[in-house]
Amino acid sequence: MAERRPTVYEVGKAHMIGGIVSGIFIVWGIPLLATVAGMEGSGWLDWIVLPLLFVWVVIFGVRSLMIVCPNCGKSIFQRGIWSVFWPAKTCSRCGIDLTTATGKDRDA
Ligand SMILES: [Zn+2]
Repeated sequence: MAERRPTVYEVGKAHMIGGIVSGIFIVWGIPLLATVAGMEGSGWLDWIVLPLLFVWVVIFGVRSLMIVCPNCGKSIFQRGIWSVFWPAKTCSRCGIDLTTATGKDRDA
């Protein structure tokens, strides 16, 4: 049985959920853990949370741009000039159905 490749939409959705979960963890999880450990309020948290948040935004943004329509290469998170949080089900440029299209194999 051949392994079913995830569709572009599924990849985008998994990316979205992973991004939201990791974002919530950075903003709430780490301070919460620090509070539980009794280490809050000393100001050091900002030095961990803010850089992490910055790295998260960069990684998340770059990965979003790398999840593209297999037909025309347009980012599935872009609708026209806008970038949106949820992947498109159909490509806004060429109209391909992204819930059935799978990503192309990239050269390793
Ligand atoms: Zn397209």
